[in-house]
Order: sequence, then structure tokens, then C-alpha cells
Amino acid sequence: ERVRIERALLSVSDKTGLVDFAKALSERGVELVSTGGTRKTLSEAGLAVRDVSELTGFPEVMDGRVKTLHPGVHGGLLAIRDDAAHASAMREHSIQPIDLLVVNLYPFEETLASGADSATQVENIDIGGPAMIRAGAKNHGYVTTVVDPADYEAVLAELAAHDGETRLAFRRKMAGIAYARTAAYDAAVAGWFAKEIGDTAPRRFSAAGTLSETLRYGENPHQAAGFYKSGETRFGVATARQLQGKALSYNNINDTDAAFELVGEFDPARIKAVAIIKHANPCGVAEGASIVEAYRKALACDPVSAFGGIVALNARLDAESAEEIVKVFTEVIIAPEADEEAVRIVAAKKNLRLLVTGGLPDPRSVGMLVKSVAGGLLVQSRDNGVVDDLDLKVVTKRAPSAQELADLTFAFRIAKHVKSNAIVYAKDGATVGIGAGQMSRVDSARIAARKAQDAAEAAGLSKPLTKGCVVASDAFFPFADGLLSAVEAGATAVIQPGGSMRDEDVIKAADDNGIAMVMTGMRHFRH
Ligand code: 5GP
Repeated sequence: ERVRIERALLSVSDKTGLVDFAKALSERGVELVSTGGTRKTLSEAGLAVRDVSELTGFPEVMDGRVKTLHPGVHGGLLAIRDDAAHASAMREHSIQPIDLLVVNLYPFEETLASGADSATQVENIDIGGPAMIRAGAKNHGYVTTVVDPADYEAVLAELAAHDGETRLAFRRKMAGIAYARTAAYDAAVAGWFAKEIGDTAPRRFSAAGTLSETLRYGENPHQAAGFYKSGETRFGVATARQLQGKALSYNNINDTDAAFELVGEFDPARIKAVAIIKHANPCGVAEGASIVEAYRKALACDPVSAFGGIVALNARLDAESAEEIVKVFTEVIIAPEADEEAVRIVAAKKNLRLLVTGGLPDPRSVGMLVKSVAGGLLVQSRDNGVVDDLDLKVVTKRAPSAQELADLTFAFRIAKHVKSNAIVYAKDGATVGIGAGQMSRVDSARIAARKAQDAAEAAGLSKPLTKGCVVASDAFFPFADGLLSAVEAGATAVIQPGGSMRDEDVIKAADDNGIAMVMTGMRHFRH
């Protein structure tokens, strides 16, 4: 479990913090071994350090291309210390164990940034370093591997806290960091090659993982596209079984994902829910006692936009619902399961894709989201905030009624899945108007109201469905105008995160109009 650090191999291009770290190791009685440049730095600082050629019995050759690629090093890193055969191989070939490996790599990424020529770039592909890192990290049962000067302090703290030894948990953590480093390094090398030869088609292997499917094209026909599955087992479009229909397109996958994540917010044991999605935004979401009821209510919100939409259910697709859904031109249906009879009904529409997942995604689960920007990637954790877990505060004179409160939490649950600025009008467990993706919150509120008006006219109703509805906003109202626009449309209660400098003005506007307002304290931007 615990391993005493007796010998360290240091081989680093970035010499930041090296001398202090090596000194501290040396003071603990750790023997230091190094490659050429590193050894020079350490001995100039007055430290006793052996040359790696003493482990290999071989000089560094070919301008340093071959320094540590030798059984004397790799045997010392990979040997299972308490395996009799490994131990005897070590004795027979005079291989000395290495307990601590400190390596950082040739500066391939920095060289890229400096705009060097191809030959310089190739010379900066480190070979021996990654080989050692991968070996040390594999043998983390015995070896501590450090690839980042930022971690030197943590190593010293570990040794100080455990009497010169490292714990398995620490070595495992460092091994994970080590493989992330070699993965990032090779991703940079592969990316450079792809760019050099102008190859941007999605290949089988990439930094994103292993290609699962080549798609016909991307968002537009002139864009190449592929689907890389992460191996994550969360229920969703990547793990679904397609029972029928045409191959999924890039846009289908993107929209289906948005749809299914949304219905995952509704616990089917409590209520059935259906979402209809277009261009990654819902155009109708509803809950009901049955799937078919929820579907009819969702469709009523915006039947025009639902044409060519994606339909996601939080429970089994039954025959009655299938009959209703196939009446509208639909691209994809995704559900946890489907009845045999329902599958037969859907089969009448040859192209309609039917996906079953076996379960719902947990909205509270953690995960990383990646988005590419020019010259880089943005990474964030998934928005796993759920309105049920929030501490809702009534900030107006009037508190919402029980029905209003139910609709408020329903609307806020949906606003999380609408592109910002998001405004969601809801009534009786159904959206009645959704304003998505606008640059101003007032515009989103107006669009949502207009859509509700259109839907009411289409249904032959005398007044818009927003009369007496509630409204959710994904972020605070910066001014009272957005709120007033919702009030004008007929909203009687509001849910929003709060936190604006002008919250007081917004609360006052609500009070003046007899509106009940609830603050969640959590924002749900989605861009
Ligand atoms: P030094 O400055 O000590 O001479 O070299 C340190 C660098 O050499 C480190 O970045 C390390 O990853 C790299 N390195 C260690 N062994 C080898 C090897 O056998 N071949 C190559 N190409 N690089 C190595």
C-alpha cells in the first residue's frame, strides 16, 4: 500500500521548481538519477546526482533521441517488486528500482505556439519521456509519477505526512494525471499532423475518442461530421437502440439529445412528460397523467413548429401515443421503452427514427461539457441544478397559489433547457409560449406571448393561452420591462433567479401588478 521513496529519476525540459524539489528529496535521503540537461542543472546547484547511463550502461546517443529507452530504466519502472520472477530478473540484469519518476516533456505545444518549422516541430516530439510516464503510471502500485511542476509541492507534502512514503491513493491520482498529460500531448501532435496535411475529416481515432459513426454531413451539407461516443453509460442518444427509421443526422443527434435531457427532468413515477424539440429548443413541453395526454398538451403549444420535430417521452411509448405522434411529421421519437403495438404503428412511417434507451438520464449526475472555440476548447461541468433542490424564496406581497407554484417549478425546469434568453409561459402543466435564443429578455417575452396568441388563434380560442399563466426566466430580469411584458401577456406569477442590481424595481413592479414572484437563486444560462 505504502511505498518508501528511495530512488527518483528526474528528466525534465521545464526546469521550473526543479532544484528546490530535488533538494528537498535529497534531504530526505532520496537518491537522484537524471538525464543530461537535468543532471547538469542539479549538479550545478550542488546536488549529488547520478547519470542515467549508470542505470543503462549505455550513453545518451543520437542527439538525445535515445537516452532512457533501455531495460535498465523501463525494468526499474515496470517491475512488480514482490513478484519473485520480476525480482529475480532485476537481480540477474542488475536493474535498480525507480520509486519516483519526475518527467515533463519536450515543449511540443510551446514550439507550436512559436510558429517553428516542420523539422523543429518533429524534433520536439518527445519519445522517451511519454514512454517512461506511461510505464511509471501503469506500475502505480509501486511508482509515483509526476508530470507537472505544479505537483512538486503535493509530493513533498505526501512524503512529509507519511514518513517518506506515498500512499496508493496518491499514486493512483498521480497516474491519472500522468495519462491525461500523455493524452493531451499526443492529441497536440496528432492535431499538428492533421493540420500539416490538411486532413479535417473525422477519423477513426481522435482526441475525442474512437469514432462510432461517420455521419453523412454536419450541420450543413458542406461540413464533414462524425459521432464519437465517450463510453459514458448514462442513458441518452449515444447509448440508445434504434429500432427503425433512417440513419440519424448530425442535427437529429443534437436535437434528440436536447429533447431527452429535458424529459429526464421529470420523474415518470410522479408524472408523465413529453417534449417536442426543434433546433435544440423545445416548442412544446407538457406533463400529464398519461403520455398521450402530455403529448396532446405539448403539441398544442406550437403545432406549426412541431412539424419535423423530435419527440421525447419520459416513459414507455404506448400504442395510443404512437397513433397521435405519427399524425404529425416527426423526425425522431426517443423513449425509455416502447410497446410492441406502438413499434408496429411507428413502422408505418418508414423514415421515422424510433430510439429506445432503457432508462432516463439523471439530471443531477455530474459530467463535463466541451465546446470548441477558435484555437481552443471550453470545458465546464454539466448544469445539474434541479429546481426541486433549490431554496425558493417568495419576494412579493402575494405568495403563489399551489397551482401557480406547481406551474412555476414546471416552467423553470423547462427554462433550463431553452437557449438564452429563455422565457417560458406555462399553465396547467403545459408550456403555452416559449421565447428562445433572443439577445434581449424583453424580445423573448414578446415572442413567447405572440406564439401563445398564434396557438390560441389556430385552436379557435377567443383569448391567448397566456391569460392567467405563469412565467419562468432563465436569468434575472435586468429591468422591470421584461416582467411588465409578461404581465401584459397575462402572467400572474413569476419564477426567476434574482440577483439583479435592480431586483427591488422588479419586485415593486410585480407588487404593483398583484403578481406573485419566486426567486430560485440559481441561473440556467444555456448558449
Ligand atoms: P535533459 O534536459 O535532462 O537532457 O532532457 C530531459 C527531456 O528529455 C525530458 O523532457 C524527457 O521527457 C526527455 N527524454 C527522456 N528520455 C528520452 C529519450 O530516451 N528520448 C527522447 N527523445 N527524449 C527523452
